[in-house]
Amino acid sequence: MSAILPGATLGVLGGGQLGRMFVQAAQQMGYFTAVLDPDPDSPAGRVSHHHIHTDYADIDGLARLAGLAEAITTEFENVPAGALEHLAVARPVSPSADAVAIAQDRIREKAHFVSCGVECAPHAVIETAIQLEAVPDNLLPGILKTARLGYDGKGQRRVADRAALAAAWDEAGNVPCVLEKLLPLDFECSVVLARGADGQMVHFPAQRNLHRDGVLAVTEVHPDSMSATQARRAISAARSIADGLGYVGVLCVEFFVLQDGALLVNEMAPRPHNSGHWSMDACDVSQFELQVRTLAGLPLNPPRQHSVAIMLNLLGDLWFVDGDKPQVPRWADVLALPGTHLHLYGKSEPRPGRKMGHLNITGDDIDAVRGTADFAAALLGLPIPLSE
Ligand code: ATP
Ligand code: MG
Repeated sequence: MSAILPGATLGVLGGGQLGRMFVQAAQQMGYFTAVLDPDPDSPAGRVSHHHIHTDYADIDGLARLAGLAEAITTEFENVPAGALEHLAVARPVSPSADAVAIAQDRIREKAHFVSCGVECAPHAVIETAIQLEAVPDNLLPGILKTARLGYDGKGQRRVADRAALAAAWDEAGNVPCVLEKLLPLDFECSVVLARGADGQMVHFPAQRNLHRDGVLAVTEVHPDSMSATQARRAISAARSIADGLGYVGVLCVEFFVLQDGALLVNEMAPRPHNSGHWSMDACDVSQFELQVRTLAGLPLNPPRQHSVAIMLNLLGDLWFVDGDKPQVPRWADVLALPGTHLHLYGKSEPRPGRKMGHLNITGDDIDAVRGTADFAAALLGLPIPLSE
């Protein structure tokens, strides 16, 4: 395929914040954009040149998207893989429906990791009552995760013993699940990479992630965030996983680092990822620009991190004080701090737990950046200290 050059229209399935930042990166490079999302107020739809508000499975909507856009990507993995397949008949689509279908399903995803020689958490597939009975004792206590449609810790339940496991599987409606052993985590990290149709791959430095209540809260990227060996192993595992899929696009692979130093893969996202948002202000090319480049078939240059960075996720909770009294977060005070970069996604209704935006803090020196991040967190009412 020859490159699709600026001036053309690029399309995205899904109008959330990831779609919005894709649209913004594409527009910065001179592309026109088309978003398909059923919500007329979607964050990406609001800033896109074209916004088709239909369901993802709507054949007319998909045809309109394919009519407008010369190439199409997706911003979330729960879009029906069939929609991508349908679009791929008319237009280049990346990532492929196959890759997205694997990432959508924890059972297939784990099988893919194993086939690439990358170790994941000890687990058992539970699709039948017989498999439930046969679960080995050493997987308990564990976490029962639905095979499909989980995100931000939704669709997950911690289970201490067999009785709790059986109850949790019932509560999940006996849908296909994976039981994972509850692991003693030291910390979590992720790698965002981009792979072109020719197999060329570039990646960002490994990112250290802190989750609260199953949702990403803080990402840090600096030379001391993990050992060079851990970072190298994570990058090499992420590359194998992408190569094994013949992947085209931006891919994020999330890892657990255990207290004994072992590195296990957790899951992958076939798109830019929340843990890669720091790249927007601390690298010479962001994960969203790389998504545009892979989609358009443009050359990929290895990203260069020019600043150390901490990213704070801004959830809807910050718009409330004492639980339910609305407040406006102290943006002006936060923006008075050096090296702060505010990204808000244009969502009109803040709700507890809803991802409303993120704040990147960049600088030359991680101690200074951490000091600023703590200060910003205090102004916003985020828990301090930021790390653990
Ligand atoms: P997202 O897609 O937003 O990353 P998710 O719903 O797919 O979330 P996971 O990534 O599977 O969920 O898990 C969410 C978090 O729960 C992990 O980042 C980790 O903090 C914790 N967690 C998940 N599995 C385990 C495990 N086996 N042992 C210990 N902690 C775990
Ligand atoms: Mg996760």
